[in-house]
Amino acid sequence: TIKTYSDFTIPYPYPVAQSIEAANGMEYPMICFNYGRTDADGTYSESTKNGMLGVVIHEVGHNFFPMIVNSDERQWTWMDEGLNSFVEYLTEELWDNKFPSKKGPAYTIVPYMKLPKDQLEPIMSNSENIVQFGPNAYSKPATGLNILRETIMGRELFDYAFKEYSRRWAFKHPTPADLFRTMEDASGEDLDWFWRGWFYGTDPVDISLDSVRYAKPSFANTANGGNRMGNRPAGPRVEPPAVNAFEDISKIRNRENSNIKFYTDRDLAARDFYWKYDRGMVVIDTSLNAKPQVQPARLPMEEFTEEEKAKYGNKFFYELSFSNKGGLVMPIIVEFTFKDGTKSIDRIPAQIWRLNEQKTSKFYVQDKEVASIKLDPMRETADIDETNNVWGGGEKASKFQMFKARAGGAPARGQSVGSNPMQLEKKSK
Ligand SMILES: [Zn+2]
Repeated sequence: TIKTYSDFTIPYPYPVAQSIEAANGMEYPMICFNYGRTDADGTYSESTKNGMLGVVIHEVGHNFFPMIVNSDERQWTWMDEGLNSFVEYLTEELWDNKFPSKKGPAYTIVPYMKLPKDQLEPIMSNSENIVQFGPNAYSKPATGLNILRETIMGRELFDYAFKEYSRRWAFKHPTPADLFRTMEDASGEDLDWFWRGWFYGTDPVDISLDSVRYAKPSFANTANGGNRMGNRPAGPRVEPPAVNAFEDISKIRNRENSNIKFYTDRDLAARDFYWKYDRGMVVIDTSLNAKPQVQPARLPMEEFTEEEKAKYGNKFFYELSFSNKGGLVMPIIVEFTFKDGTKSIDRIPAQIWRLNEQKTSKFYVQDKEVASIKLDPMRETADIDETNNVWGGGEKASKFQMFKARAGGAPARGQSVGSNPMQLEKKSK
């Protein structure tokens, strides 16, 4: 315990750490009391053994959280119990690869995350207000940190940032914001979305693979690809004056304020064509512009070369649509199993939900035909409904019509399209 905790935090600074046999588990600085005795004949059950190991690691571990990294356990129980349960979990895992850890692996928190909302509070609740103390203050924060370590940040980055938190806050009084901030600025990762969801909310993870569209590329009719977009009829050909239809109170007050002199009244050179146009002082002859015009499609199409056809001709296209049914965003882990039995994994960062937290999709170009798809195959994200994580294949491929946009087809931003009133006035002269 002392060695593993020292590796993940700071070197143990006290002269001793005592664990005394007692019928409970309770921590004090440098001394704690833990259960775990053999039967009278010297034998013991496996649950006694593992329970004793867990409680000794946990209570000795409290020397680090909150005795050294001295958070306020009355205000934020999770800051010492959650962090301590997390390092307890890491220590158990390094004790024996078969240790039956219960606080840490993502799937073990699923029964709690599935509970009705009236039985849940955010981890960021005052300890007096928590219904299910164990999962809320111990297991859920410990599991969240483990998900950050294994699935979101990676071990190297997480371990560095977590150690930095202990280093910065040893013998001081950190609050939750100090943990959140240190994990972000020591790692250089924006984790606000994770703190918001996992620590400030009660939503569970339930990412659903709603549908898979499967297609083979088709190169037919690409020569006249421009017809796909169609030719756009020209819009209103003479732009009307750009003045707001409603005159708001600020405009009226500015006008009625005799202390205000508008710039275009002080400097008459600033009165350009549109200053007059906006005031009805310029009349445009629109008959010059009466001939129907057709503007080209914004994205003119080009033919595919034989080389390009060869490159895409044998590919398999898949569009996966996902929805966030649980509310909590997470990375999406997609496992493809191909018809030849091989597998591949795509780990999509949680930022895919950045612009839409309800629905998202991703398009894949595969070399081989996919037999089935499964989300989160290693149960890393605490997804509470795994039945909507799978797609079985079997559908027939549809055709995916290939088009290639010509470079430079669309007008640049800020560039005028068509004719403007200034041009028309010039023409009429
Ligand atoms: Zn504890």
